[in-house]
Amino acid sequence: MEDFAALLSPAAAPHLEELAAQSQKLTRHFFGNTIRLFAPLYLSNECVNVCKYCGFSRHNAIPRITLPAAKVEDETRLLAGRGFRSLLLVAGEHPKYVANGYVADCIRRCLPLTPQIALELGPLETEEYVPLVAVGAEGLVVYQETYHEPTYRELHTAGPKKNYAWRLDTAERGHAAGFRRLGIGALFGLHDWRLEAISLAAHAKHLLKNCWSSYLTVALPRMRPASGHFQIEAKNELADREMVQLMCALRLLLPTAGIVLSTREPANLRDGLCTLGVTHMSAGSSTEPGGYSAFDESQWTPTREQPGEQFHIADERPPQVVAAMLKQKGLDPVWKDHDRALSGPRETPAFETITATADESAARTWMPQSR
Ligand code: SF4
Repeated sequence: MEDFAALLSPAAAPHLEELAAQSQKLTRHFFGNTIRLFAPLYLSNECVNVCKYCGFSRHNAIPRITLPAAKVEDETRLLAGRGFRSLLLVAGEHPKYVANGYVADCIRRCLPLTPQIALELGPLETEEYVPLVAVGAEGLVVYQETYHEPTYRELHTAGPKKNYAWRLDTAERGHAAGFRRLGIGALFGLHDWRLEAISLAAHAKHLLKNCWSSYLTVALPRMRPASGHFQIEAKNELADREMVQLMCALRLLLPTAGIVLSTREPANLRDGLCTLGVTHMSAGSSTEPGGYSAFDESQWTPTREQPGEQFHIADERPPQVVAAMLKQKGLDPVWKDHDRALSGPRETPAFETITATADESAARTWMPQSR
């Protein structure tokens, strides 16, 4: 971790080329030339939380939509037609609209069309995750947003998300429930980027040690313009060059972890980063529930405004253009890298509760008795 902090320091910045070369070498060694492509599919923008930086925040006056499960299936069919076999189902946190039965129904409908389904929802209890894993969800993604507790308190002023520790433990509850893949991240722009990066890396190391049977991915999303017009303080900005430095340093620290790059980033930066350490990329994304249907595929333009989007993406290229770009760089775009047949039937894990003491945050969660 000390070496990682040194690699993030201003003193390491002049050595960026060397750092990038090492990162590229390690990535090719562990992942070959592959880049997995996925699409986020927004189920609902209803949310009970107040997060000052998010377009879905409770007080923002946007049209609120929760897609009926049949409509989710339609959107999945569209995405499958564009090549995707890996989806991230995303929803705001609303116990009335985004309940477990609804999510399970969506997974059931999506799976025949796309065999790899991950979830990005409001955090749940382990017992609530178990049926979602049983029905076929493969991955769980939850970003801490900021690891700096005072900033977290300042930015999350209402709703269950106010509970920092509950969110921090989500990945471990997901692991206990049997998710094959866990995704974590920080939203860069909310606090000092180096402190966020070091905390994120420490969290990743902790999960690699304690949730070793799940595969770990790490994301480095940066703030994008959204409804609510949250202003990033200049001191918290993560510049493009620093973003490269961060991603390459993270690869050196975590050689086997997946690194996710979304369409929040502009095309030119994505084209550069994809050769250096990235393993997973989204493409052709919409961040509004129902947004994929409101698209003219022949022109690749939205057929209407998308006022209910979470944020506006920066790389608006169609997925096939992104795949062609990857090929041109000698990389292999992978649309499908998992099938339920590979993981076989899942057993429901047995649990015991471990009581945490103040400095036992590592054990502050449900742990499986056997795996
Ligand atoms: S960040 Fe998540 S929890 Fe917060 S308002 Fe947006 S959707 Fe809701």
